[in-house]
Amino acid sequence: MMAGMAGYIVKNKMRPRPEWQKDAVPAADPSNPFRILPPKVGDAANRQPHPMIRKRFPIVMMLEPLHACNLTCTGCGRIREYESTITERVPLEECLLAVDECGAPTVSICGGEPMMYPQIGELVAGILERNKHIILCTNGMFIKKRIREFHPDARFFFNVHLDGLEKTHDICVEKEGVFAEAIEGIRTAKAAGFKVCTNTTIYKETDMREIEALFEYLEQFQVDGHQISPAYGYAAVDDREIFLTRDDIHEKFRDIERLARRFRINQTPIYLDFLKGERELPCTAWGNPTYNVKGWKGPCYLITDAHYKTFEDLMTQTPWESYGHGNDPRCEHCMVHCGYEPSAALGINAKLADSIKMISWALR
Ligand code: SF4
Ligand code: SF4
Repeated sequence: MMAGMAGYIVKNKMRPRPEWQKDAVPAADPSNPFRILPPKVGDAANRQPHPMIRKRFPIVMMLEPLHACNLTCTGCGRIREYESTITERVPLEECLLAVDECGAPTVSICGGEPMMYPQIGELVAGILERNKHIILCTNGMFIKKRIREFHPDARFFFNVHLDGLEKTHDICVEKEGVFAEAIEGIRTAKAAGFKVCTNTTIYKETDMREIEALFEYLEQFQVDGHQISPAYGYAAVDDREIFLTRDDIHEKFRDIERLARRFRINQTPIYLDFLKGERELPCTAWGNPTYNVKGWKGPCYLITDAHYKTFEDLMTQTPWESYGHGNDPRCEHCMVHCGYEPSAALGINAKLADSIKMISWALR
């Protein structure tokens, strides 16, 4: 997977598609309550975009075939933002067309709860036929029931959402028994030969010692890796207290290296440095484009200023340079992986020792 991804990135860095590199000017939009700020003046030296900013291409496509979910997690922006279309689904053929249109080598199927999508097995099979890698993000509760619809494949991962040990996780998802069912799902998938990772969101209240205890507990199931990311403060979520500022994030992730030495953390060491506050990265949201019932969501997985009909429109009509830390107030405390992990993978603000770090991480 790593070799294929590295080859894809090198190829696109050397020969980026010219039509995706044009800079769109922000259109005046009275219906948008958030002012898009132009780049800061008087700070020209620091505001020069990195050369990679002009080499845009997708790395991981986020495919949301539906937004319905059997849970109502406290920090979930999706079920709230898409409440009016929560019963709609992207037809199977349209999902596959979007995968082809985007061309990213990895597809993350998310939602909503994608295991509630009637043709989820066919969708996974169709994407695998296209020689892509798949990360199926799920709360784990339907794995046992639907496992027969899938076949183990080295390119296919279940990614089970777990925000803490039993008591904490059940509070986060607002339902008792979810942790136990998710663990049963992990056990079932591993026993059937599937690859399984976990996905943990870090909130203000998260005790990082509990996350370490969670990873220790998961060792018995031989899970294949852990994804960990700070929560983003969705406008649609009322409870602002649960989200972190940049300083909170630096503090929470201060000790992440120790965890990364003990457990298989899926995030790159470069992104972890960024979370610790030890390096700056610009947002490269086009690296993780999102497709859902309304079309291509721009600019990113988190903020919605527009939905575009085609992937080309998303790439060419989004004013990318208006977003990211320092450009838009909504991005001020965002350090989530879908905005910044592509920057790490693309080698933006790279340091001399990065190649060695990346190779040893990939080998692990
Ligand atoms: S399981 Fe996922 S999609 Fe469902 S409510 Fe929770 S965070 Fe949202
Ligand atoms: S900084 Fe975060 S919220 Fe802002 S555009 Fe990038 S990914 Fe989206």
